[in-house]
Amino acid sequence: MTRRPIIAGNWKMNLTVTEGLALARGVRDRCARFRGVDVVVGPAAMALHPIIERLADSPIGVAAQNCHWADKGAFTGELSPVQLAEVGCTHVIIGHSERRTLFGETDENVGKKARSLHDHGLIPIVCIGETLAEREAGTTLAVVTRQLDAAIALLDGDELSRTVLAYEPVWAIGTGKTATPEQAQDVHAAIRARLAEKAGAEATEAVRIQYGGSVKPTNIRALMAQPDIDGALVGGASLDSDSFARIVSFEEDVDR
Ligand code: PEP
Repeated sequence: MTRRPIIAGNWKMNLTVTEGLALARGVRDRCARFRGVDVVVGPAAMALHPIIERLADSPIGVAAQNCHWADKGAFTGELSPVQLAEVGCTHVIIGHSERRTLFGETDENVGKKARSLHDHGLIPIVCIGETLAEREAGTTLAVVTRQLDAAIALLDGDELSRTVLAYEPVWAIGTGKTATPEQAQDVHAAIRARLAEKAGAEATEAVRIQYGGSVKPTNIRALMAQPDIDGALVGGASLDSDSFARIVSFEEDVDR
């Protein structure tokens, strides 16, 4: 099966609304023509609505960077899948390593968020990945498997096939140290093998697994050449529309 590539930008807490709108315009102008790739941008929460409006005439998706699993309630400072769906979000990034390490995100909560997002027609982009200490201790696959199992525990095969996974080795995020394409492929293949144990062949084949961690225009093509790498979750390089477009256009024979 050929899986349609998906490239998403995680803007984190980096841009004002004005800056985000300008970047969204740049992404739309440069990326909307690449019809063979799903393109998603991930602005800060207060910029979601205006950016969704700005991108309304384009195929570009818009992701929130986190959510709560409840529909509504006394959860000060949180955003619910109901609220995100109402403004037109298409995707939500959950389980990002910054949420896990800095804000106490647990494996179990990631699973509840994935469940709730599917209940409201939103696509989770589920981040999983090991720290440097875990890699050096030889526990990469155990960690990633534990995170994966919890994230998909409440999903059926159909929901799983629509879920996007992002393998992001924590040691490669924002460090300039990319996993080699072979290192990434090894983990992606192990993730797909685990999916095969947990879900049917159809869902296993359909799930798109992004790689994330210092993805740049110069390394995207080698990563995308790997059989189980179906896209990228991009942090730093997504903050410039030109570099993001060069990543999105990885299939084109352009000078990078
Ligand atoms: C990320 O935070 O998801 C990420 C991959 O960041 P960067 O591309 O900057 O390493």
